[in-house]
Amino acid sequence: MTDANKVMELSKEYLWLPFTQMKDYEKDPLIIEEGEGIKLKDIYGKEYYDGYSSLWVNVHGHRKQEIDDAVKEQLDRIAHSTLLGATNVPATLLAERLIQISPPNLQRVFYSDSGAEAIEIALKMAFQYWYNNGNEKKTKFVTFSDGYHGDTVGAISVGAVDLFHKIYNPLMFNSFKVPFPDTYRHPSDDPQEVMRESLSALKETLDKHHEEIAGLIMESKIQGAGGMKIMTDGFFKEVENLCRTYGILLIVDEVATGFGRTGKMFAVEHEEIRPDIMTVAKGITGGYLPIAATITSEEVHQAFYDDYTKLKTLFHGHSYTGNQLGCAAALANLDLFEKENIVASVEQKASVVQEALKPVAEQAGVGDVRQLGLMCGIELSKDKITKEPFPFEERMAYHTTLTMRKNGMLTRPLGDTVIFMPPLAAEESDLKAMVGIIEKSIEETITD
Ligand SMILES: *Cc1c(COP(=O)(O)O)cnc(C)c1O
Repeated sequence: MTDANKVMELSKEYLWLPFTQMKDYEKDPLIIEEGEGIKLKDIYGKEYYDGYSSLWVNVHGHRKQEIDDAVKEQLDRIAHSTLLGATNVPATLLAERLIQISPPNLQRVFYSDSGAEAIEIALKMAFQYWYNNGNEKKTKFVTFSDGYHGDTVGAISVGAVDLFHKIYNPLMFNSFKVPFPDTYRHPSDDPQEVMRESLSALKETLDKHHEEIAGLIMESKIQGAGGMKIMTDGFFKEVENLCRTYGILLIVDEVATGFGRTGKMFAVEHEEIRPDIMTVAKGITGGYLPIAATITSEEVHQAFYDDYTKLKTLFHGHSYTGNQLGCAAALANLDLFEKENIVASVEQKASVVQEALKPVAEQAGVGDVRQLGLMCGIELSKDKITKEPFPFEERMAYHTTLTMRKNGMLTRPLGDTVIFMPPLAAEESDLKAMVGIIEKSIEETITD
């Protein structure tokens, strides 16, 4: 048995947690010790719904028998060997499975260990694709405002969430930023007009600069960390068309949206997009282990394929890339997608959540409720009509999530938006109970 109070003291003394002000942590510490299904248990035995799928990664719940078994079986063979110049069995089998479920033009899998790394690799690939083809001018990227692609310096250079990224500006390379068609925070009520405005800004940028642009990077159908902002239907396709017209690579970031989260295996399927490069991570192992992949068309790969002395190799790799335990978990995860028909079930569950969220949208302090599949954001606003936000200092979304914790559910805020991302395996009754906690906690937090 672990001594709970002892671990608590150690956590305050030695840890520095990601995206966390440690002064907040000290006041409201939390240490998870166990998980079962869609619930987590802390060191004092209190249970919580995993309302954020352990930061958007969990699919089938915790301690899923099939994935547990797959990892244990792999452990009896080997835990890890390198992917530099060699491969292993599960990484190879997983590559085939990923290609089978990816858009039909994608053909090659380059592994890494996190979403941000998959993005770094995509950026280097896109740049070097042009370089290897004799074009040294294409060195820049286009991205959308409020885009999020991870926290490493390359990934933040194509990111545009001011709260997270602005301070690091002096470290970044420059990217062209185009306004995302944000229908809530826009003076126009007409989504078509908002979309046209964004597309014309994109067209103008490409018109002027396409000769120096290697690729455009975007999240798939919905922006996640930027606040759960959904693209109006048709926008994604128009962006793809513009990339083709201007001869730049389309990099689609499926790190948050991949593996059933939006009701499709990949969110590109909503508009039959064919990315040149696609990044996946989060849900790939069902939330078990850190595996990511950058998946490309054969045309992109061919630009790197030549005699070694031509120096067209992609000079990139990480120590734990292609880890066997992670790939074994991922294979078991994909088996479960088939066996339990996960993607189809998301649509039904999403409609249950949509219905349950209706009273939340009417609550005082709630400005907008956005949802695609089982990806939901509840944006708090002081004034429903004027959309005036709560003062920054009040940290209303943060305090709402603390109330939710007290009421038995864990999640995180993104600025003024409370995130709800339940594991895909959550039952309908659990989904309703979780939304009930959201409703109750908003009411308790926003009293006056
Ligand atoms: C989480 C996320 C990333 C970064 O993935 P990590 O594994 O946290 O590095 C990149 N892109 C999107 C869209 C994400 O949601």
